[in-house]
Amino acid sequence: MTKPLVAVLSGAGISTDSGIPDYRGPQGLWRRDPEAEKLVTYEYYMGDPEIRRRSWQMRRKNRTLSAEPNAAHRAIVDLERSGVPVRVITQNVDGLHQMAGLPARKVLELHGSARSFVCTGCHARGPMEEALARLDAGEDDPPCRECGAVLKSATVMFGQRLDPVVLGEALAIAKACQVFIAVGTSLQVQPAAGLAGVAADHGARLVIVNAEPTPYDELADEVVREPIGTALPKLLRELAAAERLPRSEEG
Ligand code: ZN
Repeated sequence: MTKPLVAVLSGAGISTDSGIPDYRGPQGLWRRDPEAEKLVTYEYYMGDPEIRRRSWQMRRKNRTLSAEPNAAHRAIVDLERSGVPVRVITQNVDGLHQMAGLPARKVLELHGSARSFVCTGCHARGPMEEALARLDAGEDDPPCRECGAVLKSATVMFGQRLDPVVLGEALAIAKACQVFIAVGTSLQVQPAAGLAGVAADHGARLVIVNAEPTPYDELADEVVREPIGTALPKLLRELAAAERLPRSEEG
């Protein structure tokens, strides 16, 4: 018998225990500071070298690259290693799911990754450390070494579209999964939030683990308000245990 697919949609709340603040959520740091928001808005970034210089300084000071995965990230890895098929769809750019040990092919990064840089001209990519090393060596707005165009972090900036391929895969997972767990996300930013509704419409059990109420709470089969660091490991252990029991009730 094929085991039921578990989809986890993760947002900023899963990484706060790792010391990463919520930057891009509706109440996030960037939305509350228009000057900071310009640093991550595509139009300003491309049009203004001064914005780019400040943006590179921000990346240099950013703690995301030195952050470590926490108990919630590790709990998802444990579930996957117990043999339950798991796919993670994340709104985070910190790469902590993969760092915790989840295979990269099982993680969909809706907003890209802060761990890589990408060229806006030829789409060449590389590790962010490589670009930051050029800052340490004295460059303040390092251009692409292949084509000379503007480099940026491989994240989706405000004003940029989500990758339609990644989004299409996320939709397919939402439709196919039997359990959909939204964790640490306010479910207020579309299209990511809508995935919870899609999953529920297609018959998945919807579980929401978030400190604050979300617009999808009424649709959920279970809402958990306890801290993610303890609530998610407990929830996933129960899920794994249930999978080990004989399943005879299903048609
Ligand atoms: Zn290039």
